[in-house]
Amino acid sequence: IDALASPIPGENGTGSQVLLLLRDVTELRRAETIRQEFVANVSHELRTPVAALKSLVETLEEGALEDEEVARDFLARMHVEVDKLAQLIEELLELSRIESGKVELRIHPVNLVEVVRAGAERLRPQAERQGVDLEVTVEQPEILALADPERIQQVVINLVHNAIKFTPPGGRITVRVYSLDREVAVTVQDTGVGIEPELLDRLFERFFKVDRARSAGGTGLGLAIAKHLVLAHRGRIWAESEGMGKGARFTFTLPAVGAA
Ligand code: ADP
Repeated sequence: IDALASPIPGENGTGSQVLLLLRDVTELRRAETIRQEFVANVSHELRTPVAALKSLVETLEEGALEDEEVARDFLARMHVEVDKLAQLIEELLELSRIESGKVELRIHPVNLVEVVRAGAERLRPQAERQGVDLEVTVEQPEILALADPERIQQVVINLVHNAIKFTPPGGRITVRVYSLDREVAVTVQDTGVGIEPELLDRLFERFFKVDRARSAGGTGLGLAIAKHLVLAHRGRIWAESEGMGKGARFTFTLPAVGAA
């Protein structure tokens, strides 16, 4: 609580009354803490690829440039780091646009089956490269949802991309599209590394990573973006896992057509 007190002169000028102004600042302090944490997180995420780039450039300057094979290898590694920076900046901008309500959703009835299939297909090459089986199963060929198809495809891609990232070769990813009561749902299930049950809710926080080393260059923003997009559709999103080594299951729902 913030208090502002100023004496009000009494009739005889003796300051016998006091005006007190009370203001609840806990909310302000909380916002400030969140802002500070955000800046610290962004700085940390930027620093890692920049440090890697710096050392690669320095080594090139110190002579590695003379050996063409080494130079090419270094360039390829620099490319990876530049891509990481570009992705982080894109995701930060995207998150800020969504959070400030600047993303306009074009919601209309869409066949969710098509949206999900198209999203999953875009990642099939990556799943194959990793030796992970990717399967899409649908209850019916047409399941209508009220959605912005581009944004929902982005959510699907995000979940499938994570599933691939956290599933070792030989594993399997199953994407299901089905109807619920007044909603429709998409589930992305994998046989990968799994998540400790007590961390499940935190996955959707900005920058949250279960294991920094394991997340292999991820930004920790993907699920925060997915959550905002799903909530903006009046849908729900959550994660389930029986524990480490037992795979993970992410589900999101959207309003069914006619369920206004
Ligand atoms: P990242 O860019 O790190 O993947 P996300 O926001 O997409 O960021 O995910 C946050 C964290 O949630 C990941 O770093 C990882 O620890 C965990 N996670 C997400 N998807 C899965 C999954 N399918 N299996 C296990 N862990 C996952």
